[in-house]
Amino acid sequence: MLPELIPNWIDGREVPALDGGRFTKLRPADGRLLCEVARSRAADVAAAVAAARVAQPAWASIPPVQRGLLLHRMVVRMEQRREEIAQIVAAETGKAPKEALGEVGGAIQCGLFYASEGQRLYGRTTTSGMPNKYAMTVRMPIGVAGLIIAANTPIANVAWKIFPALICGNAAVLKNAEDTPGTAWIVGQIAQECGLPAGVLNIIQGYGEEAGAPLVAHPDVGVISFTGSTEVGRIIQRVAGERFCRVSLELGGKNALVVCDDADLEHAAKWVLLSAFSNAGQRCAAASRVIVFDAVYEPFRALLLEKIACLRVGPGDEHDFGPVINASQLQAMLAAVEAARAEGATVLAGGRRLDDPEHRDGFYMAPTLIEGVDPDAELSRCELFGPITTLYRAPDFAAALALANRSPYGLTAAIHTRSIHRAVRFCEQVQAGVAVVNAGTYGSEPHMPFGGVRQSGNGTREPGTEALDVYSELKDVYINIDPAQL
Ligand code: NAD
Repeated sequence: MLPELIPNWIDGREVPALDGGRFTKLRPADGRLLCEVARSRAADVAAAVAAARVAQPAWASIPPVQRGLLLHRMVVRMEQRREEIAQIVAAETGKAPKEALGEVGGAIQCGLFYASEGQRLYGRTTTSGMPNKYAMTVRMPIGVAGLIIAANTPIANVAWKIFPALICGNAAVLKNAEDTPGTAWIVGQIAQECGLPAGVLNIIQGYGEEAGAPLVAHPDVGVISFTGSTEVGRIIQRVAGERFCRVSLELGGKNALVVCDDADLEHAAKWVLLSAFSNAGQRCAAASRVIVFDAVYEPFRALLLEKIACLRVGPGDEHDFGPVINASQLQAMLAAVEAARAEGATVLAGGRRLDDPEHRDGFYMAPTLIEGVDPDAELSRCELFGPITTLYRAPDFAAALALANRSPYGLTAAIHTRSIHRAVRFCEQVQAGVAVVNAGTYGSEPHMPFGGVRQSGNGTREPGTEALDVYSELKDVYINIDPAQL
């Protein structure tokens, strides 16, 4: 299924790292070796950017409708190979095959959306203040797009970046997530099979500092789109900003889910579990802060604990969630829980690695519920990116809203209530890029703009048609006619 060594895709060819470097990728489900991966560095990145630069003008000169048809061919091929892609996603992440298949479906939808954007790519026509003058805007490609992604939903992350970048007429260099090398590799193979011109989509494998940083610093890259942590986003903004490179940042979250005293508690508990623990909590939109009205706090906590006790952890379709992506991620979470415990927090459930024979070789964290944490403590402010969530009490709506907004992040938020008044006011006033009523802190769709406020991003939105603004330049065109020449 996967080659022993996952290579880069540069200029339509599979190539190892120039210096022969490689690293090992382990299966999160059982800690066994999955494959080796090209360990790229600045020279590999330079080769990929050079190939993209050469390929881009010809790609941009293909009419967008035709570019869309080519991308559509890739989408059809992804559909034909969906089981194979899902197997790779499942092996690399440890998530259940069914969930991986669902993620491939999401990536296909995203590809379909952008393939048909080739028939639109709207500009604007408007009036002019002068007679005999016509004013309009057209979209121009930027040039070479540098794309950097996280590993949590690997095939969706690849699709979110490459399809909008390419439909706009850019060539792309994707620095893939080091923990999910095979997913991007197979997309490179599909691009090749479908006749995407060489150099239009280049895929670089490797670590962030070694392969991501040179891409961000490369003077020929005109736009960087990054999905990852706020910490790395801050570095990227600084480095790319230095040369006025356009930057789109999709960063972390510490998302609040509010449960009011008039909520359907059973329904709310179901959504807390899904929001906090699905994909092992490795979602930027995961609900890591659950704010519950005093009046229903005790019964709701009891309900959550009852449901958490029934969660099954493992890599199969019969499980609720799988392992986290690597051993160091697991260690970081365990350390964060220990630190919170030392500061007086109460771990109500989980808080430990699963070390029974079925789990001990994989990177499994028990579903973890914590209470008694100060809203300004480290655990309340820092994203852990794992199956860990914290309960907070609030006396009323105003206090719950204030708590939800007491965060350096602002990606998503949800409220559970039967009151239209509370629901609407929450959506108005919660400081987040996504607000949800009576469901989870997620559910974004490929045709909708996703992104956050504060430290969850830099104000851009992807995907949706809004992503076209990330990957294209607007040009004003004025046409003047001379009536004397009629
Ligand atoms: P990370 O920031 O460590 O890594 C993300 C990517 O950046 C990887 O490909 C990595 O190799 C690369 N990278 C690391 N250092 C770099 C550097 N100095 N220069 C250039 N590239 C560098 O994040 P992670 O731990 O892999 O992923 C989890 C994070 O991603 C969480 O914070 C999560 O919330 C966020 N995320 C956000 C969204 C969103 O849409 N907002 C979606 C998914 C994940």
